[in-house]
Amino acid sequence: MAQKTTELYRGKAKTVYHTTDADKLILHFRNDTSAFDGERIEQLARKGMVNNKFNFFIMQKLEQAGIPTQAEVLLSDDEVLVKKLAMIPVECVVRNFAAGSLVKRLGVEEGQALTPPTFELFLKNDALHDPMINDSHVVSFGWATAEQLAEMKQLTLRVNDVLSRLFDDAGLMLVDFKLEFGLFHGKVVLGDEFSPDGCRLWDKASRKKLDKDRFRQGLGGVVEAYEEVAQRLGVPLD
Ligand code: 5GP
Repeated sequence: MAQKTTELYRGKAKTVYHTTDADKLILHFRNDTSAFDGERIEQLARKGMVNNKFNFFIMQKLEQAGIPTQAEVLLSDDEVLVKKLAMIPVECVVRNFAAGSLVKRLGVEEGQALTPPTFELFLKNDALHDPMINDSHVVSFGWATAEQLAEMKQLTLRVNDVLSRLFDDAGLMLVDFKLEFGLFHGKVVLGDEFSPDGCRLWDKASRKKLDKDRFRQGLGGVVEAYEEVAQRLGVPLD
């Protein structure tokens, strides 16, 4: 098994380490929770563990559905071994219901169903507050080729199909989510993480928010909500 060596990158919620295998990295999920492009950061006990296990569970479900992911081996409570991807600096966002920046941008009502779901692209750049971009920006600036972008879009919509059903079965609405992709020996592979930090999940009956909006909006009970989602999905946390 690949062993952790030097730090490659420290993100807002995860630290990435090189390993003794040049094709593998270790992601360490920290308890740090940030909002507003890192302007607000707090430590939330157990969050690193919950998100690490939640992410691995979801990535396994996606692999089973034929979607290539970087996840390899759950190493510990807060660490996972992953494939080393050359990350594409673009965020792919799918929305099934209006919320967040879409509501602000277009003045539509929160909770409005979007049929078919929308697909949006954002540039991963905190200093610029992750501006919205379009397909031609991605290709003209060389962030991805037209073929890679088409693959990212197709995979993101397939992830939406698989996960919307999974969450629906657990009494939850998958309102929206963000994915990041990278290249592994030239192939487009799902990277980063899927956790309640990067998606919106509402209880179907009460529409209670069970995701990072609890932190962004100061609603409290953040990790408790993540644990409730994990428990409803059957993610083993102990
Ligand atoms: P919005 O554009 O409404 O702010 O976000 C849409 C969805 O993508 C939400 O589920 C949100 O959590 C996720 N998302 C967008 N950008 C980021 C980001 O930079 N970090 C994280 N963790 N999630 C993001």
